[in-house]
Amino acid sequence: MTPEKLIIIGSGPAGLTAAIYAARADLHPLVFEGSQAGGQLMLTTEVENYPGFPDGILGPDLMDQMRKQAERFEARIETADVTKVDFGSRPFKVWVGANEHAAEAVIVATGASARWLGIPGEDRLRGRGVSACATCDGFFFRERNIVVVGGGDSAMEEALFLTKFASKVTIIHRREEFRASAIMAGRALAHPKIEVVWDTVVEEMLGDEEVTGIKIRNVRTNEVSEMGTEGVFVAIGHRPNTEIFKRQLEMDEVGYLTLRGDGSTATSVAGVFAAGDVADSTYRQAVTAAGAGCQAAIDAERWLDQE
Ligand code: NAP
Repeated sequence: MTPEKLIIIGSGPAGLTAAIYAARADLHPLVFEGSQAGGQLMLTTEVENYPGFPDGILGPDLMDQMRKQAERFEARIETADVTKVDFGSRPFKVWVGANEHAAEAVIVATGASARWLGIPGEDRLRGRGVSACATCDGFFFRERNIVVVGGGDSAMEEALFLTKFASKVTIIHRREEFRASAIMAGRALAHPKIEVVWDTVVEEMLGDEEVTGIKIRNVRTNEVSEMGTEGVFVAIGHRPNTEIFKRQLEMDEVGYLTLRGDGSTATSVAGVFAAGDVADSTYRQAVTAAGAGCQAAIDAERWLDQE
């Protein structure tokens, strides 16, 4: 089997930008876009902060354009989930089920997934008032009453960000103290627009076309009540999609891939590069992921040239 020059795993902004650059550099990349092709932007509605679209663009449309752009330069895109990799020797091996592929270089761009509560109404109302990204969707909630679920730094950050738009932000946390760092928690607690409901879990999201409220339960008293709200931001953390890279690539305790720290996209294995949310728990933006995808393609091209 002749190895591919480059396999790209993932098809969010990082993977597809890497594909555009690699294809234009004649690396003939093979992209495994996965069954959740397009990544997290497929779950959002309007994207207003991606440069180049002054009137905004729908997340799925943006991904469709990126995909077409990659195909224009003959990136080969396969709709399949990579199920196993072996980066222990070269060429690297990548499996889709029983099908084995080999590559001289690999770019990992499998992204991260927001964690959801898994309660009734959540799936149905996602994009209709239920979101996991304040930076993406907060703008649409001007002068509204919003709920943020969670007690970590993400929840504090989302709540504080949302105060710019919302008239009131209620943080609902399942315990009586925040997990967040003291400084972030302090800022949230001191903010005049933020209220906290402690010891409470959300059991259901209510509404037909759009979210109109939530059903909550106090975990101490078991009292169940309904609270009206026009937006629910679930901020209970993200999970990097790195399960198949365990024992293959170095990652931090949460599972984010660690880069070599020289400003490049190199992972712990020479010839394997990572871009986007899979290696970034800080910025997590489409545009930063796209930028990292570009870097990864350039890094891979230079690395292949040296070999
Ligand atoms: P996290 O620290 O794991 O916090 C998750 C929060 O969600 C916790 O308060 C947890 O409650 C709650 N939670 C989890 N599952 C839940 C469920 N099913 N129902 C209700 N609540 C649930 O995650 P994170 O806030 O995303 O932060 C991840 C990492 O990124 C942290 O290391 C954080 O410091 C870092 N971060 C830093 C910044 C910053 O410094 N600006 C911003 C964002 C993130 P319990 O507390 O009861 O477990």
